Amino acid sequence: MEPDLTNNQKIVLQTLEKSEQPLGAYSILFNVEKKGIKSPQQVYRALDKLITIGAVHKIESLNSYIACKHKECKARESTSFLICQDCQRVFEILEADLSDKFLKVSKKSNFKYSTHNLEIFGVCKTCS
Ligand SMILES: [Zn+2]
Ligand SMILES: [Zn+2]
Repeated sequence: MEPDLTNNQKIVLQTLEKSEQPLGAYSILFNVEKKGIKSPQQVYRALDKLITIGAVHKIESLNSYIACKHKECKARESTSFLICQDCQRVFEILEADLSDKFLKVSKKSNFKYSTHNLEIFGVCKTCS
């Protein structure tokens, strides 16, 4: 747990850590209302900070958020996820060589690679 987090940030992070699936901002709000967070703005503000420090990632295609389980992520900007199409569970994968791969592919197109957000869709072990 980050020591410099505000109360709201801690509550939002704990809610995401407890969840098996990624949560949208309004699902988070529904879960934290009893703990004193009353507006979507408060949730978004907490999420912004948590994303900046790498404690939470946004799954763009699902418009949802997950807590990061990897300590190494804190300094990373690129993310890669496996997304189960049956149960919507999301698994983060840490593959450092993906960045090298994308760097090379980008270079071939005279493109300067900076980061990537990869979402791979399929079926998880439990659902297959
Ligand atoms: Zn992560
Ligand atoms: Zn599944």
